[in-house]
Amino acid sequence: MAARSKDDLRSPICCILGHVDTGKTKLLDKIRQTNVQEGEAGGITQQIGATYFPADAIVKKTAVLGPDRAEEVKVPGLLVIDTPGHESFTNLRTRGSSLCNIAILVVDIMHGLEPQTLESIRLLRDRKTPFIVALNKIDRLFDWKAIPDNSFQDSLAKQKPSVQDEFQRRVEQTQVAFAEQGLNSTLYYKNKNFAKYVSLVPTSAHTGEGIPDMLNLLVNLTQSRMSDKLMYITELECTVLEVKVIEGLGTTIDVVLVNGWLHEGDKIVVCGLNGPIVTQVRALLTPQPMRELRIKSQYVHHKSVKAALGVKISAPDLEKAIAGSRLLVCGPDDDEEDLKEEVMSDLTNLMSSIDRSGHGVWVQASTLGALEALLEFLKTSKIPVSGINIGPVHRKDVVKASVMLEKAREYAVMLCFDVKVDKEAEEMAEELGIRVFTADIIYHLFDRYVEYNAAITEQKRKDQAPSAVFPCVLKMVPGAIFNKKDPIIIGVDVVEGALRVGTPICVVKTNSETGAREINTLGKVTSIEMNHKSIDIVKKGQAGGGVAIKIECAVYETPKTYGRHFEETDEFYSKITRQSIDVLKQSFRNDMSKEDWALIVKLKKTLGVD
Ligand code: GDP
Repeated sequence: MAARSKDDLRSPICCILGHVDTGKTKLLDKIRQTNVQEGEAGGITQQIGATYFPADAIVKKTAVLGPDRAEEVKVPGLLVIDTPGHESFTNLRTRGSSLCNIAILVVDIMHGLEPQTLESIRLLRDRKTPFIVALNKIDRLFDWKAIPDNSFQDSLAKQKPSVQDEFQRRVEQTQVAFAEQGLNSTLYYKNKNFAKYVSLVPTSAHTGEGIPDMLNLLVNLTQSRMSDKLMYITELECTVLEVKVIEGLGTTIDVVLVNGWLHEGDKIVVCGLNGPIVTQVRALLTPQPMRELRIKSQYVHHKSVKAALGVKISAPDLEKAIAGSRLLVCGPDDDEEDLKEEVMSDLTNLMSSIDRSGHGVWVQASTLGALEALLEFLKTSKIPVSGINIGPVHRKDVVKASVMLEKAREYAVMLCFDVKVDKEAEEMAEELGIRVFTADIIYHLFDRYVEYNAAITEQKRKDQAPSAVFPCVLKMVPGAIFNKKDPIIIGVDVVEGALRVGTPICVVKTNSETGAREINTLGKVTSIEMNHKSIDIVKKGQAGGGVAIKIECAVYETPKTYGRHFEETDEFYSKITRQSIDVLKQSFRNDMSKEDWALIVKLKKTLGVD
């Protein structure tokens, strides 16, 4: 049993999510007081996945809040994941649940909720992760007078009434937008019920206003509401955020150690594309504190590290490691086979999303976490999946997806989330007629698939229209025989259902000698006339005095004659078959009412269709 104690809290792990350009990088940058964002533009990127804020740094940064500040910082610090966006959030996972303790959802106060904001909300909900909202870019409110790094409430109090009004209006708009997503939200300092209301923290990543408020709220919320989850346990909890090739080190993995220890030389087990990977930690690395100084070695080596932190692991054989995988350490008492099975279970569990019928779309994503999120979404959207893979799309994936061309054309589709499709694979898909959709927002993939599916269904309807037979029962208007045979022209009433042009019509006769039932197909209705006007469809009760219909038989059929094959007292039926019923089921469900289906059942009996 792992040791737990309330006095030994670990740092909460915090992720930043939100729509592009809302200021996620800039916010992280501002709390770090470095210049990553401008650095990134120059091609320099952060290399280890997280930034650690020790408690004293938080105390200093929040001093400006005065009495509003948390009484005591009990957590040792805050570990903020550096790569903003849903990749890192979805990969911070263990057995399908999130390792992110609290998230910051960044919303641009000038833009409100945008597509990726909605996607982030869905991810946060799926993983049941608590979050706060940074309503960023308050400095862009017209006439805002900045007081750098100030507490938000103080800054707001010092603005002109017009600025305060605009702020209030935008907050209200945001609240409405959140309400549309089924979320209650309120300004954090008015929030009396954190379980029910999401807190909105106005911030500016440019002026630093509101950032002390945000840090304070993160600390307050985590230590007051989730100390159980933050009790340090010696049991290892570690997840792979990224797999990266680094010059001089080969393929390395950036991991977040959430609980427990890692040591140089540890035997580790991770989930790989081609099966479990067992290897030995060669080095545990974190970046040099001041990399700008161009110190020769980029990294600091550690003999061992304790949670919570982000660390780079250099080890052999990591080429096929999957981001989002759990990392386990194989100790002297552990059974290596058990651990292998356990790390692979993350991938094998996802396999269970595959539809048993073998029908469905092909799904491919960059990481285990992203794949998991996409599959979850497809499941709730009731889109079946026939196969999955992780990583860039190659020809072999297209080949696998192409099985669906024969089985179910509408599923001959590859939904690729946040992955590259290599040139050859693209060409092959084009040649075979497989549709490949790529996007980095799950919603977009879904929308494009739904659109495509609608187009395919419409085409199928058009193709199948000639073999669709809608049910109806007709009676002749007494004396209304205008032409006895080929083409038969008679006046009829629609007694049940609806008659359409193109419907084949038959009568049922009993053979007077054998007593057997015979079905006489008269031909297809080629025109319907009501009050001298030609119409395509006539429904039960629509034709007061009846309609005149023309029935023509196909060249290969023997023409049927009034008085011999049918007479005035007969009932006329749509000539349905097993196949025509299937066509209705497949493509014309929306055109059929409950009564229509009941009539089909009746006609099946009358005409002896199995
Ligand atoms: P990300 O895509 O969410 O990481 O957004 P960035 O941090 O890269 O910011 C996008 C743009 O918005 C950049 O030009 C930033 O300088 C700008 N920006 C970010 N935060 C603020 C803010 O608080 N105020 C203003 N005026 N601009 C901001």
